[in-house]
Amino acid sequence: MTAPQPRRNVQQIPAYVPGKPPTPRTDLVTYKLSSNENPYPPLPGVISAAHAAVETMNRYPDMGSAALYAELAARFDVPLEDLAAATGSVALIYQLLSAYCEPGDEVVHAWRSFEAYPIAITTAAAVGVPVPLTADARHDLDAMASAITGRTRVVLLCTPNNPTGPALTQTEVDAFLAEVPSDVLVVLDEAYYEFVRIDDPLDAIGTYRRHENVLVFRTFSKAYGLAGFRVGYAIAHAPVAAALRAVSLPFGVSSVAQAAAIASLEAQPELLDRVEGLVAERERVVKALAEVGWDVPDAQGNFVWFDLGEKAGAFAAAADAAGLVVRPFAGDGCRVTIGEPEANDRLIEVASAFSKD
Ligand SMILES: *Cc1c(COP(=O)(O)O)cnc(C)c1O
Repeated sequence: MTAPQPRRNVQQIPAYVPGKPPTPRTDLVTYKLSSNENPYPPLPGVISAAHAAVETMNRYPDMGSAALYAELAARFDVPLEDLAAATGSVALIYQLLSAYCEPGDEVVHAWRSFEAYPIAITTAAAVGVPVPLTADARHDLDAMASAITGRTRVVLLCTPNNPTGPALTQTEVDAFLAEVPSDVLVVLDEAYYEFVRIDDPLDAIGTYRRHENVLVFRTFSKAYGLAGFRVGYAIAHAPVAAALRAVSLPFGVSSVAQAAAIASLEAQPELLDRVEGLVAERERVVKALAEVGWDVPDAQGNFVWFDLGEKAGAFAAAADAAGLVVRPFAGDGCRVTIGEPEANDRLIEVASAFSKD
């Protein structure tokens, strides 16, 4: 007897390693710095909007996310048909690949980058073409342009790059796009764009306006602090956005998530104040690390990257002993989220005491 078999690619899907929660301790307050979450609790207006939506849980959500689309369309001055909401921007990656890739088609992305990319690519039975980062942990856009072949359907640009931190500039992206054939989609995955403070920052929405093959993915999970509700959106030209919506899980974005996302957009000034506080903390951490000899890559998200090679596990263990859960990538490095000031102080202590050599 032969048992039912999934498609061959399913066995090859790498496991997603979620950021671990802290081990409960009685001796000290622990902090979860492993998933790039916002450490602040939701704003009061967001909680009350979510509560109101809970009252309607016997009904399906609005499948068209009409109120959310209206809010996003007005905010970014884009047509309604250029929007697609999904259960987190991770879902948009899956949807895009399932809509555009035949088995064996190629998807170019930087590596190391967001760990969901190889998972989504393998799930779609597409072929990932990972292009190594430069020595300073940035996308190597020249090499990425050279990696495009006749089979390439999608390029994923992660800016700022998770987990290493650097963000792409407008000049870099413009030069790259000039090399990309018009039938290859280029995703600007901007999960952390609110945290970017560089010269010549990318205007992703302006870039999408100028290029039919460019689309932007954003999420409410990071700066907006709604990771638990699973909501993200794409801004894409109408045919691409329609394809994203066509393959989406019906009623995926819950009523509560839609309501909380809208309330968050309305609370943007307060939310962006908090982002400003996190950026200030990030700058403080990076400076303190530099003072003790840690030259981390340009941190433009709400996290810092420690290039540790084989010592990634040892660093994570040292952080754990100090009550901090970080995200190790075996044999490579650790990503540590910028959290509460006390958590950041402890990170500085751990890194100061840790011997790299
Ligand atoms: C966190 C993250 C996302 C989105 O996460 P969702 O919670 O699914 O919206 C997308 N891209 C990158 C690079 C991320 O780090």
